[in-house]
Amino acid sequence: ALAALQGQSLPDTSTPSEQLGIDKIRLETQLREALAGHALELSYQPILDIPADRIAGYEALVRWQHPERGPVSPAEFVALAEETSLIVPIGEYVIDVACAAVSRFARAGVDPVPFVAVNVSARQLVHPGLVERILARVHHAGLPAGSLKLEITESRALDIELVARVIELCQRHGIRVALDDFGTGYSHFGQLHRLHFDTVKLDRSFAHAMLADPRAMAIIEHLAELGRALRTDIVVEGVETGEQLAELRRIGCRYAQGYLIGRPRALGEWLASA
Ligand code: C2E
Ligand code: MG
Ligand code: MG
Ligand code: MG
Repeated sequence: ALAALQGQSLPDTSTPSEQLGIDKIRLETQLREALAGHALELSYQPILDIPADRIAGYEALVRWQHPERGPVSPAEFVALAEETSLIVPIGEYVIDVACAAVSRFARAGVDPVPFVAVNVSARQLVHPGLVERILARVHHAGLPAGSLKLEITESRALDIELVARVIELCQRHGIRVALDDFGTGYSHFGQLHRLHFDTVKLDRSFAHAMLADPRAMAIIEHLAELGRALRTDIVVEGVETGEQLAELRRIGCRYAQGYLIGRPRALGEWLASA
């Protein structure tokens, strides 16, 4: 029966997931073109130093304006880029643009110069020479140590030994490293114990729950205390209301990020308001 089918045109029996496969290949090609054509842009979201009441730095978030589909969420295309290793050149591009952003803040006279944090996935970390390339770019841009921060984002388990080496190398050169989205996915207390992150960012689900759920509140409060004991900065992500920020201030939490503080915006908008 199979042989009889050969040479004949088959009806389209592809499943939705196979069509998604074709879609993915097309999207990957377009993403590659977007990177080559500098169509990827960075948005910057401020991070508030709560007691000092000033913006300490900005997180760089990649944006892709797709020619037909409009803005594509990084949640979608970063995963695709990770599957195809395209994340490596994208990551290098992001780091270059982030370094340029720090320089622009400095030239605009923003004092102290805010840090810019870039997201780095484990896939990028395992790529040999990543840290050396980051250092070369930071030095080339003549930036002060500490102006660039790496946020390690992971959906799978982190290789503790590898991340420990990366953190050590970064810190020796003044680049700070943050653990992103703590309290969700594959994050765990062993990472806080064995890895000396400069910063831990608490997943936004905690800020969302904190006013209604005393358990979420207790976790934030005690994480802030743990941060002080470990000399690790704690950033609470996803702060959207004044009440949430007031509670964070009351319990002595140091940093907050979220739509209340500011939505991700183009660099020029922050420079204009700085
Ligand atoms: P993330 O690093 O945890 O970034 C925070 C995400 O939460 C951003 O989504 C931001 O827009 C969103 N957000 C910030 N404040 C609030 C808030 O108050 N409420 C809510 N509901 N959301 C808020 P975005 O920009 O869509 O990025 C999603 C994820 O994509 C990032 O999560 C990060 O893991 C990844 N990503 C973004 N840019 C890059 C990049 O350049 N490289 C890599 N490897 N990953 C990136
Ligand atoms: Mg992040
Ligand atoms: Mg995060
Ligand atoms: Mg995230």
